[in-house]
Order: sequence, then structure tokens, then C-alpha cells
Amino acid sequence: MHHPHKPLELTLARSARVLIVAHARARFPEECCGLLVGRLRAGKALVTRAVPAANIALPARRKRHFEIDPALLFTVQRALREHGATRHREVILGYFHSHPGGNARPSGADLAGAHEPGLVTLIAAPPRKAGRVPLRAWLRLGGGPSRRFRPLKITTDF
Ligand SMILES: [Zn+2]
Repeated sequence: MHHPHKPLELTLARSARVLIVAHARARFPEECCGLLVGRLRAGKALVTRAVPAANIALPARRKRHFEIDPALLFTVQRALREHGATRHREVILGYFHSHPGGNARPSGADLAGAHEPGLVTLIAAPPRKAGRVPLRAWLRLGGGPSRRFRPLKITTDF
């Protein structure tokens, strides 16, 4: 997995925002999840696409946990390599997932999770199946006991 170089701000394509919100509502009351694809430029992560994934956590755990299908991760990484993504410098910037009925801050499970430092985590917090869905973005920092999340400013663009 590619390691972004510490973006401070996340710019989210409108289409990616729409997809994440729709996916979070559709999967409610379970957590949704997926990949964030885009570019890094001058301290900004530009998310050009969100790719929805199946939550393959055990059914009894899906309301509070997510696990992205590793086959999707492999497929997207291969597609980025094969389709001239290097030319556009598109990489997997990180993940998105939802906290149904919760808030958009990283949970204890997120903190304990194995997500790699340098990856972006975007959290959608649908209060119910319809209505406004707050989104917040975080950057994973540190490894082992020093791991934490730093908030990223989100702007919606292009
Ligand atoms: Zn979470």
C-alpha cells in the first residue's frame, strides 16, 4: 500500500461525497466501507473516487466493525497500475467507513485497528437511514502504542 506524505487537508470530489453518503445510508444500521482513490499534491489529499466495498466482518460484528474485502483492494491496486494511473499519480489514499447512529470520530476499534500510518480514514456518521450524514476525515499517525488520528480539514470540490 502506498503511504501518502502527511496531507493536512482533504479535498473530496462531489461524486465521492455523494457515493459515501449513499453507501452509509444504504448499509445502515451496519457499517459501510470502501476505498479512497486520488492524488497527493502540496499537503493536500485529493480524493477523486470512492470505491464501495463489501463489509466482510462477521454479520454479528458489522454494526460496530468493518473489514474491507482484500480481493477488492487487490483489484483496485492492480487497476491503478495497469490503467496508466502512475501518469495521473493516482493511489489508494485510505479508507472510508461509517458509524451508524454514532459520531464521526475514530472509535476504540478504529484506534486498535491495523490501518497503516499515513493513510486517510474518512468516517460518515448517519444518525439514521435518511437525513444529513456528517463526515470527518482523519490521518492515521504513529505505530504501536503511539498510534493516533489527526483531524483533516475537508473541502468538497470539482
Ligand atoms: Zn470506525
